[in-house]
Amino acid sequence: MFEWNILKDELEDLKKKGLYTHIRTLESPQGAWLKISGKKVLNLCSNNYLGLANDERLKKSSVEAVEKWGVGPGAVRTIAGTLSLHEEAEKELAHFKGAESAMLIQSGFNANQAVIPPIVGKEDLIFSDELNHASIIDGCRLSGAKIIRWNHLDVKDLEEKLKTHPNARRRLIVTDGVFSMDGDVAPLDDIVKIGEKHNALVMVDDAHGEGVLGPNGRGIVAHFDLEGKVDIDVGTMSKAFGVVGGYVAGNSTLIEYLKQKARPFLFSSAPTPADVGAVLAAVRVLQSSDELVKKLWSNANYFKKEMQSLGFDVGHSQTPITPVMLYDAKISSEFSRKLFEEGVFAQSIGYPTVQKGKARIRVMISAVHTEEDLKFALERFKRVGKELNLI
Ligand SMILES: *Cc1c(COP(=O)(O)O)cnc(C)c1O
Repeated sequence: MFEWNILKDELEDLKKKGLYTHIRTLESPQGAWLKISGKKVLNLCSNNYLGLANDERLKKSSVEAVEKWGVGPGAVRTIAGTLSLHEEAEKELAHFKGAESAMLIQSGFNANQAVIPPIVGKEDLIFSDELNHASIIDGCRLSGAKIIRWNHLDVKDLEEKLKTHPNARRRLIVTDGVFSMDGDVAPLDDIVKIGEKHNALVMVDDAHGEGVLGPNGRGIVAHFDLEGKVDIDVGTMSKAFGVVGGYVAGNSTLIEYLKQKARPFLFSSAPTPADVGAVLAAVRVLQSSDELVKKLWSNANYFKKEMQSLGFDVGHSQTPITPVMLYDAKISSEFSRKLFEEGVFAQSIGYPTVQKGKARIRVMISAVHTEEDLKFALERFKRVGKELNLI
C-alpha cells in the first residue's frame, strides 16, 4: 500500500509554514475587477498586462477562427496538425519579434523544453542565470548538458565562468528577459557582447517582456535594439497577449531544425484555432498602437511611487511587476488574506517560487486599471500595512 499519509503530513507542514497555496477560483472573466467567492475584488495578480484576455477584438478573432477551423487541430504539427492559421501566426510573430522565423508551441513552458534539448546535449555546457524560470531549468536538465549557474544579472561572473569552462562542443547562455518575481531586466546587450566574444549561443525567454518592453511592446530584443543578434528568443502567448501558448523565434535554420527535432512539437498536438486566432489579433492590436503599453507603464510607475511613499519596500523592479517585499512567508500570506477581506486580490508568493525568506506580495499592475482602482489598492495596502505594524 502506498502511504498517502506521508503526503498528507507534507501538505499539513506546508500549511503551518504559510507555504500552502490556496487556489482562488474566479467566477468572472479576467480584468481589473474579479468575482471570487461571490465577492467583487480588485485584481492585482494576473499576467494580463494589457487587459487583452477579455478584449473584444481578440474574442472576435478567436470566434472567427473557431468558425473557420473548428476547435481542435486534430494531430501533432508534423503529421496532420499544421493549419495555414498556424503558419500565418508564425509569420506575424516572427515579424513582431524582428526575427526571420518562428515556431508556435503549446505553451511558454513547453517552448523551453522544445528548444533547449535539441540544441545542446551531453557534450555541451549551459550557462544559466541562477534565478531563471522553472521551465528553463527543466529544459536545461532535460537536455543532459552540464549546467553552470552564474550569479543573477552578473555579467562579470558570466564571463569568468565562460573563461574557466572553455571546453565543450557548444556553449549556450540562457536567461529570462524580465525576471517575473522581482521585475528586474537581464542586461541582454552585455550578454550578447559576451556571447559573441566567447563564441557562445545566446537565448532569452521573453515571457514578461513582450507586450511590456520595447517599442509597441515588441519585447526585450527590440528594447535593446538587438534584432538578429540573439540566437534564440522564446516567447509566450499567455502573458501580455492574454491567450495561451508559446513560441520560439530565431533564424530560419533554427526554426527548421526545431520543427524536425523538438519533442513537444513532434509529440504533442498543435495550439488550437481559438488560441491562434486570438493571438493574431493581439499582435495586430500591438502593432497598430502603443497606447496600452504606455498606459501600463504610467499606471505601474504611479503605483510604485505611491507605495514607496507609504513606506513599503518594493524591491528593485525595472518593469510593471511590483514585488511588495515582506520576507516572512507567514506575514506575507496573512497580508494577502487581509487584503482579500478588504476587497483586493493580491497573492502571496513564497518558496519554492522565490528563495526562502524572500516572501512577497507580487502586485501586477495592468493597463486596464483606472486611477480610481489604483487609489483603492493603495488605500487598502496602507490600512493592512498599519494593522500589521509594517509601515
Ligand atoms: C510564465 C513563464 C513561462 C511559462 O509560460 P506559459 O505560456 O504560461 O507556459 C515561461 N518562461 C517564463 C520566464 C515565464 O515567466
